[in-house]
Amino acid sequence: MKLTQLLLLNQNNQQCIRSGYCCIKAPCVFGSWNKLKTQCKHLKGNKPGKYYCGIKSEIVDKLPDNEKDYFGAGCSSTLNPIRTKMLTKNIDSL
Ligand code: SF4
Repeated sequence: MKLTQLLLLNQNNQQCIRSGYCCIKAPCVFGSWNKLKTQCKHLKGNKPGKYYCGIKSEIVDKLPDNEKDYFGAGCSSTLNPIRTKMLTKNIDSL
């Protein structure tokens, strides 16, 4: 099954699929840059589909209740080349 099919089944094709792209391009307001790794120092995981924010729970704790669900909810970006590539591959090969 392709990820696109899975997302459509969930009727939520914007959800984060852990490409890591945003945190590799620039840190969010809670992050900070690791010059050696050229990514946010809080980004964990080692490949698209496996990346995750290492301080997500700390960040969510700081957010107002009505904003907690938005953090990590997904970008749905078609300008994210890693996301686009992931969505065209078979989910079992990721
Ligand atoms: S890893 Fe976490 S703290 Fe860093 S940029 Fe991504 S979401 Fe923000």
